[in-house]
Amino acid sequence: MSFFKRTAAVVLASLTVLGTAAGTLSASAEYDPADAKMPVSISKLTFKKLSSRKIRIYWSGAKDDRVSIYTIQRSDVGSGVWKTVGKMASDGDRTDGKNYYTDLLSTADHQRYEYRVKVKVSDSSKYYAELGGTVVASNVKVCVDPGHFKKLNAGTYGYTEAEAVLSTGLALQSSLKASGVDVYMTRADKNITVGGKKNVDDGDQLFARGTAARDNKCDLFVSLHSNANGYNANGRDTIDQPKYINKTVVFVNKTAYKESSKRTRRIANYIGKYVTNVNKAHGIYSCAWINSTKPVVYTDDYEFTDYNDGLKREGQVIYRKWGSNDYYAVLRGASSVGVPGMLIEHGYHTYPDYCRKFMDNASISNEYASVETAAMLKYLF
Ligand SMILES: [Zn+2]
Repeated sequence: MSFFKRTAAVVLASLTVLGTAAGTLSASAEYDPADAKMPVSISKLTFKKLSSRKIRIYWSGAKDDRVSIYTIQRSDVGSGVWKTVGKMASDGDRTDGKNYYTDLLSTADHQRYEYRVKVKVSDSSKYYAELGGTVVASNVKVCVDPGHFKKLNAGTYGYTEAEAVLSTGLALQSSLKASGVDVYMTRADKNITVGGKKNVDDGDQLFARGTAARDNKCDLFVSLHSNANGYNANGRDTIDQPKYINKTVVFVNKTAYKESSKRTRRIANYIGKYVTNVNKAHGIYSCAWINSTKPVVYTDDYEFTDYNDGLKREGQVIYRKWGSNDYYAVLRGASSVGVPGMLIEHGYHTYPDYCRKFMDNASISNEYASVETAAMLKYLF
């Protein structure tokens, strides 16, 4: 390569970095873009948990004839110390826009890494390799279940529980994925099809939301809700409860209750505490959060109703039983397939200010998702 060509390549590379259109250079009489070396990198990566020991990393623009070898590397998140986990040859077919590598882990312990794919170019007179992007990925997957469907369970100010928890669920999905935790959604829009039926919320379909966690290889089941009082509780209309009722409650299922690691109870406790803080920041907080990983067990429905409707009863982790099983069908479903789970009652949509603040502040969903993600990252790994 001549000195001129080498210089031209450097100029083009710098301009590309600055985002200048290379097309403006082609007008130059001194410069022929066909002579320039082109950078090659893998920038957009995604991932899936395939099993407890397999993480699959996908990238686009692969099977590229500009590439001879892909080197897949991982690091502990943010450490900057990269270790090669695999190499694979490009078959040079640029028509297949997909490629992937499956990282086989040595144990099934929950693990989270940052991955990147380096390239070796096929023709160094035409191309040079650049570092591309990274993706955080893990062998952990969470089943997110936004409760109900359509516009069920209306509060006030246009709030419906089904729409509010869908908004929180979608925010939780993107926040978990961005943190390297894979997600299965029982529904991602206003409709749900589960247990062979569309938009049915009876026992079998609720149970099937829970069993979907195992069918989709999830390690945790999380059902999202807002709470309601009984008819005419506290001598007020059911859509006119006072601020004092607004507590956050997190129900853990039987599998979580019996977990020797207490992992899910710790996640539930952290979520309860910090969801309470989100409500507090928006002025819709009244009851405190009891810091406890030892759930209160309710076996008597009258006793529970008294707690749920009671003013100044603090939020906490609860294991609500029905016979020897979970009271809630979604949690019973998850327990039946051995997946630890929880049901989060973020606040009370029978307290009008809860609905008003939620409808006025689009950020509340993201704030809930953010503390829920933080809880899972803290205790799942
Ligand atoms: Zn609900």
